[in-house]
Amino acid sequence: MSEFSLIRRYFTRATPGAVLGVGDDAALLQVSAGHVLAISTDMLVSGTHFFPDADPFLLGHKTLAVNLSDLAAMGAKPRWATLAISLPQVDDVWLERFAAGFFALAEQQGVDLVGGDTTRGPLNLCVTIMGEVPPALALRRDGAKLGDDIWVSGSLGDAALALAHLQERVVLDEAAFAACATRLHQPQPRVELGLVLRGLAHSAIDISDGLLADLGHILEASKVGAELRFDALPVSEIMSQFKDAAMVQRCILAGGDDYELCFTAPESCREALSQLAATLTLPLTRIGKVTSNAGCVVRDVQGNNMTMEAGGYDHFA
Ligand code: ADP
Ligand code: MG
Repeated sequence: MSEFSLIRRYFTRATPGAVLGVGDDAALLQVSAGHVLAISTDMLVSGTHFFPDADPFLLGHKTLAVNLSDLAAMGAKPRWATLAISLPQVDDVWLERFAAGFFALAEQQGVDLVGGDTTRGPLNLCVTIMGEVPPALALRRDGAKLGDDIWVSGSLGDAALALAHLQERVVLDEAAFAACATRLHQPQPRVELGLVLRGLAHSAIDISDGLLADLGHILEASKVGAELRFDALPVSEIMSQFKDAAMVQRCILAGGDDYELCFTAPESCREALSQLAATLTLPLTRIGKVTSNAGCVVRDVQGNNMTMEAGGYDHFA
């Protein structure tokens, strides 16, 4: 199969939201009036971000999901994506499944694939996602204010627990692993939440490298500190019953791949946020406060400072 028939067969779909989609030297896109373009790139590398034998359908989903998560954290509405893909060989079954996973999520989120690049090489998947947001409503990292509540969506740590199981650092029973594996392989980007947080949240970030590391980016950009209550952190049934306390702590605070949103909002938003949680059927949990001290303090039930390293994943550390 030629490169061009591969692109035509697997990666060319209708692009109703674009002026011009796949097939020319560049796509043509029109941003809505009063909006700016929000654009972000995330790359998934075989052996680093996923196992070489990963299910291609789930990989197609995750490749787009991790990018959507960045737009969610910006309060942007996703519109378009490009896909740069390097493949060791043309494997029709693999490509079929990868495209199915990718487009299932793209269609659900109203995202048009408008271009990309296709080459031979080690398996590598790189999406550039584009969306739009009114500039004054974008959820930036530098907007946290002293006294803000710190919130997190969903629950934390299950993806990291699934990874620990796959790497034989812990042993989960079959049902527990299945539940956690879904969080690892099929993250749900919190796009709807990001959109409704416009005008409520002062700052936001998506949790891809662990809560402490990612919240740390907000604190640094906003030049503030934080105090968190460990017992307030939202966890699944599985995590709450898991016996190894050190592992639980690591997964919740420094595990990767949660793809939840962490955001700060003034106390005056508490009522509105509880209602949003009900409407979205997505738990929103208040986990602490923005303070003036540098850094992040985590307190245990007795109020004691728990010492720990932020330790997010750093590719070059
Ligand atoms: P060029 O040589 O001008 O860079 P290419 O031959 O790389 O163009 O790509 C041809 C067309 O197919 C372009 O519109 C490009 O955006 C699109 N394209 C290439 N690879 C992909 C892909 N994996 N997914 C979607 N569109 C793609
Ligand atoms: Mg090209």
